[in-house]
Amino acid sequence: MPSAPDGSVGAMTADPVHTVFARAAAAAADFRESLPGRRVSAKVGLDEALDRFDSELPEGPTDPNNVIEELMRLAEPGITSSAGPRFFGFVTGGALPAATAADMLAAGWDQCTFNAVLAPAATAVERNAGRWVKDLLGIPQHATAGFVTGAQASNTVGLAAARHHVLARAGHDVATRGLIGAPAVRVVAGAERHATIDASLRLLGLGTDCIEPVATLPNGEMDAADLARVLAEGSAVSSGASERPTIVCLQAGNVNTGAFDDLRAGCDIAHAHDAWGHVDGAFGLWAGASPALRHLVDGVERADSWCLDAHKWLNVPYDSALAICAHPDAQVAAMSYSAAYLTGSEQASYGPGDLVPESSRRARGFAVWAALKELGRDGVADLVDRCCALARRFAEGLTAGGAEIVNDVVINQVLIDFPGRDVDAIAAAVQAGGTCWLGGTTWRGRRLLRVSVSNYATTEADVDMSVAAILKAAAAAHCGIPVPPRS
Ligand SMILES: *Cc1c(COP(=O)(O)O)cnc(C)c1O
Repeated sequence: MPSAPDGSVGAMTADPVHTVFARAAAAAADFRESLPGRRVSAKVGLDEALDRFDSELPEGPTDPNNVIEELMRLAEPGITSSAGPRFFGFVTGGALPAATAADMLAAGWDQCTFNAVLAPAATAVERNAGRWVKDLLGIPQHATAGFVTGAQASNTVGLAAARHHVLARAGHDVATRGLIGAPAVRVVAGAERHATIDASLRLLGLGTDCIEPVATLPNGEMDAADLARVLAEGSAVSSGASERPTIVCLQAGNVNTGAFDDLRAGCDIAHAHDAWGHVDGAFGLWAGASPALRHLVDGVERADSWCLDAHKWLNVPYDSALAICAHPDAQVAAMSYSAAYLTGSEQASYGPGDLVPESSRRARGFAVWAALKELGRDGVADLVDRCCALARRFAEGLTAGGAEIVNDVVINQVLIDFPGRDVDAIAAAVQAGGTCWLGGTTWRGRRLLRVSVSNYATTEADVDMSVAAILKAAAAAHCGIPVPPRS
């Protein structure tokens, strides 16, 4: 029986909290332990999952223990092993033990992470985790770091701050006047930007027609010479280009090839044109934590805003990302409804809610802090380096088996073709087989298989087993054997 410490209000009476929390934590741990041996794709698809959950809202209450038992039973067959070591579709990352446990505590503590009065510890941990991230990745410490749901939200925050800043310089206060009467904003972005940039521009009322695309080099990185050309000349739709408020979107980590834009050249060219330089580095910015790969993000400190996922390569559970901005006043002006506009020396006065679109939200910083503490500086570097080595192992194993590797494997991304065969049929057969999971992608008009290695738990044996499964599916596709149905 817990005793009430001095100053607490009332003592706890017996309630289901202990048993139900312990049950959920134990089940989550059992699930995690089962992952290396578990089928990777879910046992059932959406139709069966819908059937399982298809019931009427109960009229009365249910015992919490029974709620959790039933939830586990209903959900189990529809749970994908995406947290496991052989899920290579998209860049999903994993979920480190301490980070996952910290997220459980965040749920238990249920802090409203709006400001320091409501949540002093959650506010402090976000400040500190933000400081660690900036230190690790070579981002200036004066930048502000808001904790958001993912890179989609982070790109939106960065571009909202950019929009505010470039329009303010053009004499237009977008915070009060909106876009009505504003000069048209140019957004200059690589032709292989992530689609969330376009979605953010739609959300911000800029629309996608404002995008002036920049050509990419053979591995998908931006052609800096073409960036200079587009900024100087403008496209057909942007006469008087150089005087217009301009945002440049750079990318660290092409979602297909892993390629990095030249951040130093990109930011310098942007700034020479008075443009804001935003870096979408959802997973790629973590390369900055590795001494062996740091050269890929050379010049990262020159950007004006950075988009960074924690739930991908840092292996923090969903949902978790940082929106980092070198102009705190612009980030606060774009996001806050309570803080006064800030100057650099007043940074201590902003709260977590002043940097992000959400007002009340959960304490995302605990899990980010825990992941960084669990790994340490060397551990993050090792995680990144290991994933990249495993990606190269994939490429070598598949090449030996007759595949064509289409990209230059600069980090953790591998694009695969089996010329003359239907790669979507191969992906479907691999998924149905259950050994590993990978998906298809279209890159430069070509249907390809894509592998992303981003989980701390993946081993060489996992890669070898997965290579064998992919080659087997490819051989079957070659012989025209139909894809087996889902078991
Ligand atoms: C994954 C990704 C995004 C979107 O991230 P979410 O966390 O899913 O919102 C944006 N940009 C890049 C480069 C990405 O890899």
